Amino acid sequence: MTNPATQTWGGTAGVPAIDVRDLHKSFGSHEVLTGIDFRVALGEVVCVIGPSGSGKSTLLRCINRLEDPTSGQILIEGVDVTHPDAELDQIRTRIGMVFQQFNLFPHMTVLRNLCIAQQRVKRRSKAEAVEIARANLVKVGLAEKEDAYPAHLSGGQQQRVAIARALSMDPDMMLFDEPTSALDPELVGDVLAIMRELAAEGMTMMVVTHEMGFAREVGDRLVFMDGGVIVEEGDPRSVLAEPRHERTKAFLSKVL
Ligand code: ADP
Ligand code: MG
Repeated sequence: MTNPATQTWGGTAGVPAIDVRDLHKSFGSHEVLTGIDFRVALGEVVCVIGPSGSGKSTLLRCINRLEDPTSGQILIEGVDVTHPDAELDQIRTRIGMVFQQFNLFPHMTVLRNLCIAQQRVKRRSKAEAVEIARANLVKVGLAEKEDAYPAHLSGGQQQRVAIARALSMDPDMMLFDEPTSALDPELVGDVLAIMRELAAEGMTMMVVTHEMGFAREVGDRLVFMDGGVIVEEGDPRSVLAEPRHERTKAFLSKVL
């Protein structure tokens, strides 16, 4: 019998990119995710909104296995990443993650930040890693910053570097956890523009965000979470314009 944790990777038509089944996650006696079921199709952009503490970050962190789910199942491209034999390093190279705090190494140049995981995890040669890093810096509009240290960049530039770093691992999908929440308002647009471009290129994306304009225009689907469950999901325009549930209405009335 095939071991579901070691079966070959690669998107297959008809198999969801992400398939979350009855996911529960507790910290001690606090159940933070109380039964999450949803799927993300190949190339789909799903935006996730919800009040602080509703479990959005925990959900993303369970998907790339930064957290251990308490129960339930998560399949990435059909591979069970919650299986005890799941190879976590391999899973994480498939799933790019971008955080609110950019998490760049402060003592390394931009180029080095983009190369280190490529060399250590992907086992790429330095020359190959540099070539891929440079191509991704061009993509995020920061080709001229390869020798800069993170502290000398604006928050928006640091976040673009973090996106380029994630892309340099050739992920099949990208998870964004409030990527613009730590940025000054005038820097948000550049980061969203890159995410919009990635979406247009067909990248599978889950984006936790408070940017309702982005969710409306770029999202294929909008998910509203509250209290560790998905309360409502659907076409972003419909959910934003005509939320069905009281909790969604109450949340949107505060943020729109
Ligand atoms: P959101 O991203 O929607 O704001 P989180 O997923 O960060 O929500 O957190 C959901 C709940 O889980 C919060 O009550 C938070 O305090 C709790 N929580 C998150 N991570 C941990 C942890 N490592 N240990 C204990 N509690 C946690
Ligand atoms: Mg969060």
